[in-house]
Amino acid sequence: MNFFSSDYKHAADEMVAEQIYARNIRDPQILEAFRQIPRQLFVDVSQKKLAYSDQPLPIGFGQTISQPYVVAYMIDAMQIDKSAWVLEVGTGSGYETAILARLAGNVFTVERISELSLRAQEVIAQIGLSNIEFRIGDGCLGWQEKAPFSHIVVTAASPEIPTALIDQLALGGKLLIPLGSAGGGQELTLIEKTPLGLKSQKILPVRFVPLIWNSASEKHSSKK
Ligand code: SAH
Repeated sequence: MNFFSSDYKHAADEMVAEQIYARNIRDPQILEAFRQIPRQLFVDVSQKKLAYSDQPLPIGFGQTISQPYVVAYMIDAMQIDKSAWVLEVGTGSGYETAILARLAGNVFTVERISELSLRAQEVIAQIGLSNIEFRIGDGCLGWQEKAPFSHIVVTAASPEIPTALIDQLALGGKLLIPLGSAGGGQELTLIEKTPLGLKSQKILPVRFVPLIWNSASEKHSSKK
């Protein structure tokens, strides 16, 4: 099915050329995924005109759909392919989930706000992506039954990494998380689990909504 009227198709192509390709993300499969996923379905009806603009947008409940470039940057940094078994913490609109699902083998996504998860599930069913499983709950606990994951992406910011996510990352796996406080400076950080321990690299200054911690979740110290 084609979800693109010629206007939206044009906007998607332009978004890819000007916001993603022009900023040095050149992986043809990533670019194609951004051309194919109809972003206008993931934004609030009142924001449809802005669906392909270079910014995050409100999706209700105080949350946002991330800026397209930031989503592309995250996915590029994780080096996802069809063998990837991915956990996403913070489904939000489901847009990043859909892009991930185009590129990965399987995607498991957790969202704490049930209304957002259900809305994302509806849109994704409409598009017809079937390699995604949704869970409503606390993503700081990961998804134990599906672990270990080759990739884990957290789409909300926190000063610390939930221990469960480190535990559920496969050896050789990659975890991407915006580290920092809600209002202050945050650094998108790429963590690799190697036989010698965790390797961590700050890759992009970002601004995300906060990751909400449940008192039961343990924090892994990132400062070592
Ligand atoms: N990639 C998403 C970003 C959504 S914003 C998009 O582009 O639409 C981040 C999301 O993380 C919000 O929906 C928020 O509710 C969710 N979130 C925050 N803390 C969480 C937690 N502990 N567990 C699961 N989801 C969480």
